[in-house]
Amino acid sequence: MQIGNPSYKICPHCKHKNKFYPGPFHVKYYGLTEWSDGETFEELPNLKKTDLQKCDNCNQFYWFKKMLGGLSFEDYVEAADYFEKKYSLITISNIIYRSINRNRLLYIRLNILRKYNDQIRKHPLANGENSKASIPNEKKEIFINNIKLLLKLLNEIEPNNHLLIAELYRNIGDFEKARTILGKIPDSISKQLLLSEIEKRNCDVIIIQTPLIAISCH
Ligand SMILES: [Zn+2]
Repeated sequence: MQIGNPSYKICPHCKHKNKFYPGPFHVKYYGLTEWSDGETFEELPNLKKTDLQKCDNCNQFYWFKKMLGGLSFEDYVEAADYFEKKYSLITISNIIYRSINRNRLLYIRLNILRKYNDQIRKHPLANGENSKASIPNEKKEIFINNIKLLLKLLNEIEPNNHLLIAELYRNIGDFEKARTILGKIPDSISKQLLLSEIEKRNCDVIIIQTPLIAISCH
């Protein structure tokens, strides 16, 4: 079964337009690493960047590179400024689409968080130290300000997402508030992990799940 809307790629051999389904539904997962900010990494990430196709018309094979990654931290910061301004104007469409606009800002601000955390997290397959020490203060300020705005949005849109809300308080060093919020949810591995980081007074993003089983979506 294919889910979602199809995209099209032109066959380099015969120029036929082949339909394909982007997204995770026909991608083989080798296992995911999940982080406390909701980011996930596939193991063997290099394999994710290309996909093999067989042309429906000429039956020849071709590889194509998927568009991945995309925007940077700075791009999302710029987008947040742009859309905050745009959505704050009193126009009819902003009134009608208020809820969609809020969700879009949530999406952008979550990406600012995750792109920032990319500098800190170490992929389980990567070598070397993280580069937290070299993050400029100006960037840290943007990060903290983003978390405050993200908390506002979450309290409005997803007030029951206690795990993420607690994580954000932990990120800005408000450990007591983080602990109080975690007190509202039943025990889980994620909750225990966050509580133990709070004990250590660690603000950084952590791994909450490492792959145990390889899942195949085929
Ligand atoms: Zn073809």
